[in-house]
Amino acid sequence: MSVVGWILLAVLGVLVLLLLIALVRTLLSGARRAEWKARREPEREALYSEKLSRMVQVETVSRRGAVQREKFLAFHALLAELFPLVHERLEKTEIDGNLLFRWKGNSDERPVVLMSHQDVVPAEGEWLHEPFSGDIADGKVWGRGSADTKCSVMAFFQAVEELLAEGYVPEQDVYLSSSCTEEIGGDGCPKLVEELKRRGVRPFLVCDEGGAIVEEPIGGVKGHFAMIGVLEKGQGNLRVSARSNGGHSSYPPKNSPIARLSAFVCDVEKHSPMHADFEPEVEAMFGTLAPYGPFAYRLLFGNLWLFKPLLKKLLPAISPQAAALLKTTVAFTMQSGSDATNVMPQEATLTMNLRYIPHQNRKASNVALTRMAEKHDLSVTVLDAYNALPPVKIDSAAYRLVEDVIDEVFPGLPKCPYVMTGGTDARFYQQICDACIRFSPVVYGPEQMKGMHGLNENVDSFSLPGAVDFYKAVIRHNQ
Ligand SMILES: [Zn+2]
Repeated sequence: MSVVGWILLAVLGVLVLLLLIALVRTLLSGARRAEWKARREPEREALYSEKLSRMVQVETVSRRGAVQREKFLAFHALLAELFPLVHERLEKTEIDGNLLFRWKGNSDERPVVLMSHQDVVPAEGEWLHEPFSGDIADGKVWGRGSADTKCSVMAFFQAVEELLAEGYVPEQDVYLSSSCTEEIGGDGCPKLVEELKRRGVRPFLVCDEGGAIVEEPIGGVKGHFAMIGVLEKGQGNLRVSARSNGGHSSYPPKNSPIARLSAFVCDVEKHSPMHADFEPEVEAMFGTLAPYGPFAYRLLFGNLWLFKPLLKKLLPAISPQAAALLKTTVAFTMQSGSDATNVMPQEATLTMNLRYIPHQNRKASNVALTRMAEKHDLSVTVLDAYNALPPVKIDSAAYRLVEDVIDEVFPGLPKCPYVMTGGTDARFYQQICDACIRFSPVVYGPEQMKGMHGLNENVDSFSLPGAVDFYKAVIRHNQ
């Protein structure tokens, strides 16, 4: 055999050996099952469902550019009725419809902020139950906002209400925070953060929506998992423009604006300048879920040391969700041309919505796309953009506190770090807090996932007592 032959044989031998190691590791580590089930408490479920139902019935759709303080004041009046002790004993601040409550503890050294927004997205289409009916039926509370995210607002108000009724005094200050502009990316939460900054408050832990108790978080991984949001991708909007001298459509020139934009779109789709890689948090997420999946899943994700290069190529090709976890995504969302069917546009534009990943953040992603655009004789304007923010450290005291609370309130529920591809208000808190954890202690099955921002939004009544207990335990554990 030639030298090359021997080298090839050696490489093959090493590969087979590595595969064997991965195989043996997988067989030895065995499969795990996620078998947590919610404890049923019919009386509490009924009480909390009723409160949530009333909250859903007050329509709180936020709209860009509209002054809507009155609408939110009506919602606050309901909160005062449902949670009288909170309103009697806590210090309330209202800024343009956004709410901040302070529950004074024995110490103000490591305050905790429990937060979720009050506003909801509009409800269109045909619903099984009217979107603002708040119907309680089939063991669920129905309506816009029931899952996103009046359930968690109800749960933390109720948690404080019950602790107050017991005469409990928190060791540390507790803040309840709720903006009315989350769904429109408005300035409600920044105003609350400004207020806390003015008071010199530096929270030890902020707990917002984002992750949740998710059923089958990845296809094939059965059971419920506490998906704890530790990293949120950045976001940007870029406008791409193509100019020309216009002209009549009866003798169209080559390379007209829309043709150039189209070529650019195809180029980005075919030769994406975005690199796939595993952020440490994404690796931790797949590693945690691996033992609960089918064999192939356990083999691949349980041995990332070997299969990472392969998965970096494979995953983005087979699933858009997986692609979003590994790279900056580019979505083409809007476009414009001329105003008439028979007029060539002098300018045509295209808008891209980007979600930045830390390893190819705002600047690197924007530069890569701008270079590609220039090749097609296009210019790029950044409309707005912010980086992915630093993740919550998985070994931090705040993260461990949340894990301990989950163990106590949801015994046996596996916990998993989670990377959010969407945005929440929590990012505004990152200027004053290192541990903004995105986790709603509510069960989201496939039906709830479909309902959020979609038709027939609902939440299971059985998941409400656990949510209330979660917030109570966070307050109690923060000593
Ligand atoms: Zn939300």
